[in-house]
Amino acid sequence: MDSTSYDYAVVGTGAAGLHLAMAMATDKFFDSKKILLLEKSQKDVNDKTWCFWEKGVGKWDGIATKIWDQAQFMATDQQINLNMGAYRYKMLASFDFYTYTKNELRKKSNFAWVNVEVGNILCDKITTIETNGQAYLAKHVFDSRITPNFYNSTDNYTRLLQHFKGWIIETDEDVFDDTSFVMMDFRITVPNTTCFTYVLPINPKMALIEFTFFSPSLVEDEIYENLLSRYVKEILKLEKYKIVNREKGVIPMSDYPFHKDNNQHLTKIGTAGGWVKPASGYSFKNAERYSQRIVDNIKNNRLPSYKLVNTLFRKYDTLFIDVLYHHNQLGVGLFETMYRKNEAHKILAFLDEETTRVEEFIIMNSFSRWPFMRALFKKIFS
Ligand SMILES: Cc1cc2nc3c(=O)[nH]c(=O)nc-3n(C[C@H](O)[C@H](O)[C@H](O)COP(=O)(O)OP(=O)(O)OC[C@H]3O[C@@H](n4cnc5c(N)ncnc54)[C@H](O)[C@@H]3O)c2cc1C
Repeated sequence: MDSTSYDYAVVGTGAAGLHLAMAMATDKFFDSKKILLLEKSQKDVNDKTWCFWEKGVGKWDGIATKIWDQAQFMATDQQINLNMGAYRYKMLASFDFYTYTKNELRKKSNFAWVNVEVGNILCDKITTIETNGQAYLAKHVFDSRITPNFYNSTDNYTRLLQHFKGWIIETDEDVFDDTSFVMMDFRITVPNTTCFTYVLPINPKMALIEFTFFSPSLVEDEIYENLLSRYVKEILKLEKYKIVNREKGVIPMSDYPFHKDNNQHLTKIGTAGGWVKPASGYSFKNAERYSQRIVDNIKNNRLPSYKLVNTLFRKYDTLFIDVLYHHNQLGVGLFETMYRKNEAHKILAFLDEETTRVEEFIIMNSFSRWPFMRALFKKIFS
C-alpha cells in the first residue's frame, strides 16, 4: 500500500485524463492538493489524430499540426462552401498532446505518476485503487476505463458506431489545397449505409483521407481499403501516391447512461463518462470543456459530475442516433439537408450545445420534409 493519501487520482491519461490533469495543474486552487495519475501504457506513440473546432485562438494552437478556416461539404450532386464564421478547425497529433502535457505536468511537484494497470476501485469513505501488487488511496477518483456493462448490458440502448480507417498519403507534386478541408464527401458511399469520406490536407503534398461509417456494425478491413483507394483514384484522380501512415478507430455513439456510475467518490471521465457527443462522435473539445466544469464544481463544493451533461441536447442526440441506427440509409439525406439549409457555423454551435432554443428550432425545422423526424421532435419538446 502506498501510504500517501491523495486528494484526487486520475485513472488513464488519455485525452480526458490529461485535459483534467492540465485543468487542475493550471488552477492555483489545486496547488495544495496531491494528485495521482495512473496509466497502463507509455503513451509514447502517435495512436490517433484529434480534430475539433473552436472560435479563434485556443489552448493547443502551439502544438497543432494544422488549422483551417475554410471547409467544404460535398453532397452527391453539389459542392457547398461552408461558412465557418469565427470557428477554426484544428488538427492535433495525439503524440504531441501527450508529450506537451506530460512535460507541463512533470513541472508540478504535487502531481505523481505511476505506470501501472488499474484493477478494482473500491469506493468507501476513502477510495482504494487496486493494481497488481500495490494499492493507492484517494478521496476522489476520475476513471477513464469504459465499464464492461456498456458492452454487456442487454438493456435497449442505442449503440451506433462511428468506425473509420484513414490513410495519410503523400505525393511528389503539389496536389492539395491545404487552405481548406472536406468535412464530409458523399460522392463515394456504400448503398443503404451512412458513410462518407473526410479529407484533411496537411500541406500541398500530404493529406489524411478517412473513410467513415456511422452504422450499427463494423465492416471488414478490406472494405475501408477499397473505398479509400476508390476515393483517391476516382475523386482525387491520383495515380501516384504513397501511403505513409494508417489510422483506424471505433467511437461509440450511444445513449448509454454512462453518468450512472458516478458517485461521491468516483467520476467516470472521457468516453467512459459519456463525454463523446453521441450525434457526432467528437469528444476532444468536450474533454477540455467538461474538465473545466469539474474544476469549477470542485472549487464550488459541488459533486465533480454536477451538470456535466446537458439533458436537452442529449435528447436531440438520442433522437438522431436512433434514426440513424434504425434507418441507416437516411444519413446521406439528413446530412445533405442539414448542410444545404443551415450555415455551418450554426451547425457547429448546435453540436457544441451553444445555440438558443430558436436556433435549435430553425435547424430542426430544416428536416420538416421528414415526417417521422417531425413526430420525434414533437416528442422531445413535449
Ligand atoms: C482513432 C481515433 C481517432 C479519433 N479522432 C477524434 C477526433 O478527431 N476528434 C474527437 O473529438 N474525437 C476523436 N476520437 C474520439 C475521442 O476523442 C478519443 O477516443 C479520445 O482519446 C477519448 O479520450 P479518453 O480519455 O476517454 O480515452 P483514451 O484517450 O483512450 O484514454 C484512456 C486511457 O486509459 C488508459 N487505461 C485504460 N485502462 C486502464 C487501466 N486498467 N489502468 C490504467 N490505465 C488504463 C489507456 O491506456 C488510455 O491511455 C477519436 C478516437 C479514435 C479511436
